[in-house]
Amino acid sequence: MTIYGECFCGEVRYKIEGKLQNARSCHCSRCRKAFSAQASAYAEVNPDDFEWLEGESLLTWFSNKQGFGKAFCSRCGSTLCGVVQGQIHGVTLGCINGDPEIQLGMHIFVGSKAPWETLPDDGVPQYDELPPQWKDDNDNG
Ligand SMILES: [Zn+2]
Ligand SMILES: [Zn+2]
Repeated sequence: MTIYGECFCGEVRYKIEGKLQNARSCHCSRCRKAFSAQASAYAEVNPDDFEWLEGESLLTWFSNKQGFGKAFCSRCGSTLCGVVQGQIHGVTLGCINGDPEIQLGMHIFVGSKAPWETLPDDGVPQYDELPPQWKDDNDNG
């Protein structure tokens, strides 16, 4: 399938020829800051499937000391991609146009959610930290 995404101002656009994986919402304090929201809404993408269509020069790439970061539109501030060690790791679901044919599969780091957040009782698995199957992975996104 082909998935298209763009930022709030529309200057940065991308396309994905493939499928997203591991869609999740992370409620940790780091994701709250990175996504300027109560949680992330994020899915992984194969970097080979990803292509910038327009506005790549407007992107700002930010990474923390651990090498986890994001690419965002310097004009409007939308975060488009998650970045790990300088490479595109996933996309923010909020910037996707249309239906990417994937739904959030888990809420992670619910144990550190903001005190003001109310979690939906939507039947999606919730984990205080990482799900058991990801324990040796990182908590990016
Ligand atoms: Zn923009
Ligand atoms: Zn997080």
